[in-house]
Amino acid sequence: MRIHLLGCGTPYSTAERFGSSYVVQVGAEYLMFDCGPSTTSKLVQSGLRPTWVDYLFFTHHHFDHDVDYPCFLLSRWNESIGKENELQVFGPTLTEQLTHRLLDEHDGAFAHDWIARINHPLSLNAHTSRGGTLPRKPPIVRAKDVGPGSVFSGSSWEVTAAPAKHVQPWLDSLAYRLDTEDGSVVVTGDTAPCDTVIELARDVDILISLCVGVQEDFDGTAEAEYMSGSTAVAGVAQAAGAKKLVLVHQAHWLDVPGQTERALRDITRIYDGEVVWGRELMAFDA
Ligand SMILES: [Zn+2]
Repeated sequence: MRIHLLGCGTPYSTAERFGSSYVVQVGAEYLMFDCGPSTTSKLVQSGLRPTWVDYLFFTHHHFDHDVDYPCFLLSRWNESIGKENELQVFGPTLTEQLTHRLLDEHDGAFAHDWIARINHPLSLNAHTSRGGTLPRKPPIVRAKDVGPGSVFSGSSWEVTAAPAKHVQPWLDSLAYRLDTEDGSVVVTGDTAPCDTVIELARDVDILISLCVGVQEDFDGTAEAEYMSGSTAVAGVAQAAGAKKLVLVHQAHWLDVPGQTERALRDITRIYDGEVVWGRELMAFDA
């Protein structure tokens, strides 16, 4: 199992961090969690190809977690030669609707693109020169709205979801757990510390958790109610018994000398497992 951190930031754009997305390789299969800003570009920079990813799981539909979805869908389809697996997409409410609104022949915001590409000789030539056959097929994406519980089982892995506490009732949010023969991973998405995420992460090998800031800087604010900072993250990791904690979704002001150390000091006071300060394009075996 190998983990690639693609997007490790927030909705605030910086050169180092912008939005969320992670890929976990299990054997020959690639599972992506969230598809925030520039995910497709970061995927390719990480040495991966859009066509390799057959499964995508959304934690929620804030743009820092899903805005590159149309780019990923169209790139993956455009590079496909017809031998690839159909992409399967899972996420909370709006996942099916968003997919429909992007690709549907009549309602899709990007339907004009694929309709032109399956008809014009320029695009058909590019398709056949890559090994594709004619007639060129429209994009087919199997999107499914899901809730807590078992989401999908692959050949040697299973993904389970639990409710995360974020911006309900405006948007539903899920945390995901991936169990494989080689170990387990939890992706918290955006959440305040809550029992459902602790239970999902029970004894997990790798907990990929948001860490927005130093807790004392925003205690008493909405940030503490609906997100997690240093001590909250450490408390969840310790309570769950997670073996390794990978920090992501850091605010831009947290990723500077002094602030990073403050957050890590908080965390290591509470959590006694291994801590990784996640950065974009980082990859590691698990
Ligand atoms: Zn976010």
